[in-house]
Amino acid sequence: MSSYSHNSTFSEPWGIHWFRRDLRVAGNPGLRFNWQKTKGRTLGIFCFDSTFLSRPDFSHNRFQFFLETLDSLKKELQQQGGDLLVVDSLPLKAFSQLLAHFDQNQIPRPQWISWNRDYEPFAKERDQKISDFFRKQNLSFETFRDHLLFEPHEVLKTDRPGDFYQIYSPFARKWLQQLATPEGQSRLKSQDKNHSYYSKLKKKKLDKGFQIQWKTLTSQPHFPFQDSLQYFLDQNKKHVTIPIPQAGSHIAFQKLQSFKNHLESYSEQRDFPAIAGTSQLSIYLKNGSLTSAQIIQELNLGRLNWGSQSHAFIYLKEIIWREFYYSILFHRPDVEHNSFLSQYSQLKWENNKSHFEKWKQGETGFPIVDAGMRQLLTTGWMHNRIRMIVASFLVKDLLIDWRWGENHFMKYLLDGDLAPNNGGWQWAASTGCDPQPYFRIFNPWLQSAKFDPQGEYIKKYIPELREIPSRFLHDPDLLQGHYIQPLVDHKTQKNRAILLFKSTPSHPKV
Ligand SMILES: Cc1cc2nc3c(=O)[nH]c(=O)nc-3n(C[C@H](O)[C@H](O)[C@H](O)COP(=O)(O)OP(=O)(O)OC[C@H]3O[C@@H](n4cnc5c(N)ncnc54)[C@H](O)[C@@H]3O)c2cc1C
Repeated sequence: MSSYSHNSTFSEPWGIHWFRRDLRVAGNPGLRFNWQKTKGRTLGIFCFDSTFLSRPDFSHNRFQFFLETLDSLKKELQQQGGDLLVVDSLPLKAFSQLLAHFDQNQIPRPQWISWNRDYEPFAKERDQKISDFFRKQNLSFETFRDHLLFEPHEVLKTDRPGDFYQIYSPFARKWLQQLATPEGQSRLKSQDKNHSYYSKLKKKKLDKGFQIQWKTLTSQPHFPFQDSLQYFLDQNKKHVTIPIPQAGSHIAFQKLQSFKNHLESYSEQRDFPAIAGTSQLSIYLKNGSLTSAQIIQELNLGRLNWGSQSHAFIYLKEIIWREFYYSILFHRPDVEHNSFLSQYSQLKWENNKSHFEKWKQGETGFPIVDAGMRQLLTTGWMHNRIRMIVASFLVKDLLIDWRWGENHFMKYLLDGDLAPNNGGWQWAASTGCDPQPYFRIFNPWLQSAKFDPQGEYIKKYIPELREIPSRFLHDPDLLQGHYIQPLVDHKTQKNRAILLFKSTPSHPKV
């Protein structure tokens, strides 16, 4: 057995916080718990599963943003006297190798392991395996609610215990009732405590004696892992195709602060893609640089005395949509691959590949659709109104399977997130929970006239239309000869889409 020269560093209890989608220090319940238990002697770990790189919806751009968020987190932790190790290994393998190394080198095992819960099907399975492993190893671990204000098992029907809501409005009502309870309010208030705890730590920088870094361990012979963060950053950078926004929780908070000044105009502006009227916080929510609770607390949305039409309430309802889709994914994990409404699982999509390519490239001949698709390709983000328009167009005008679109979005969206992406696509395709009814089909020309009347958004992303009078952009007859010929005729396709839905054998007969 080899001796270990830094054993004294680990002579007092220490802990590991396993980061996943909670990439921040402030208001991180699992990390905070670990700090409290170990008096700040906590190391962070992130386990990267390389098989993820070969997923069909893998995005180098999103990965870069994720890596830069990890980098920012590592620096933040180091400033607090801790550290983050990014390992290129599945968590189960990583933890078992680490424990074996500690044992072989007479390094005391971590007394506490913590993580914040996740609700995606693959995460649930992974976490179950890890929990079983730690139990077998007799290691203490604790898990925490973090990225949702209310977890899926907390917002259930009261009249039918255990049953989950499939419609947004009653879900939102129940969610708001939970928010009004002392427990709901304390979840918001605990955000304050977390912040002040963080600033206290920041001031003290923790005692020198508390400082432990992975460097001490990783520099030992036979340590099973190298920190892979820089390697991934260097390798991935070569494949990035768009400017990557600044990452990290400090930036997320700055963005939240600046949105605070715009909240008052949210409900008027949020549907107009030419205006930066929405918070654009989705990319930070995805990685946990920020959580719903932090947003609600910071914007004072939890005060419960807003009118139903207030900006604050309208914004809060969007946050609830996110939690709703998480609840759906949690209770119906099959939606990851299939229609929520089983009667529409057998729809006979036309799936014209050449149309799909044109849609992806923003060359359909429908300016509002093309502008959206080009915004996605060049920035990695798309305005919500436009997401609805392009999704509806793919499914109901081009009669292409929503899963193709969902996959394309995941490849390009920096905020690509399974629950809201799947929810948004199934909503547009009328196959989801509480969806757009199958016969209510967006007319892209009318949508464009209504939400981008001056064509500012369209002209921003389609330079070849900059000299064209705005009113031409919303009318196929006026536009003829000035732009790509539309791939299809909207009216014809609308009728075909309705027939497609009606012709499925299990379509409800009315
Ligand atoms: C087809 C389609 C695909 C989508 N894919 C994703 C995705 O991969 N990731 C993602 O985060 N959102 C997705 N959305 C939801 C929504 O478009 C984005 O959350 C929103 O555009 C992000 O911009 P924002 O932060 O400025 O939103 P804001 O208007 O400022 O809203 C604040 C937050 O509320 C949540 N939110 C807002 N609208 C919705 C919604 N309709 N559904 C669920 N949550 C919502 C988001 O977390 C958002 O950050 C999708 C919507 C559709 C129609």
